[in-house]
Amino acid sequence: MHTSDCIFCQIAQRKIPSEIAYEDDEVIAFKDNQPLAPVHLLVIPKRHLRSLNDVTSEQEPLIAHLFGVIRRLAGEFGVAESGYRVVTNTGTDGGQVVGHLHFHLLGGQALNATIG
Ligand code: AMP
Ligand code: ZN
Repeated sequence: MHTSDCIFCQIAQRKIPSEIAYEDDEVIAFKDNQPLAPVHLLVIPKRHLRSLNDVTSEQEPLIAHLFGVIRRLAGEFGVAESGYRVVTNTGTDGGQVVGHLHFHLLGGQALNATIG
C-alpha cells in the first residue's frame, strides 16, 4: 500500500484531521474516533509499518520508545493508577482493520476481560 492510501499515514502527515494527544519525530498519538472506553488513544509509528509482523530488529528501539510514550500518555490521561490496556491487533484473525501498525491504549473504566 502506498502511504497516500493509508488513513493513519494521512493522520501522521496531518492531511486528515484527528485529535492529536502527542507527537514527536517518530511517533504520533491521537484519539480513536470510535472510542471503546473513556480513554481510547491510538499510538503509531509515523513510518508505515503494516503490523507487528513488519517490525525488524532495527526497529525494536522505535517500539521501545513507543511504549514509553504509551506509559507517559497513561499518566497524562489519568489512568496510570486505575489501570489500562494496550492492544495491537495483528492480521485477519487478530481483527486488524487498519493496515498501519497501531497500539490501542484503553482505560477509564473496568475493561471486559474476555479475549476474542
Ligand atoms: P484495528 O481493528 O486495531 O485495526 O482498529 C482500528 C481503529 O482505528 C478502530 O478502533 C477505529 O475506530 C480507528 N480509526 C479508524 N479511522 C480513524 C480515524 N480517522 N481517526 C481515529 N481513529 C480511527
Ligand atoms: Zn500508513
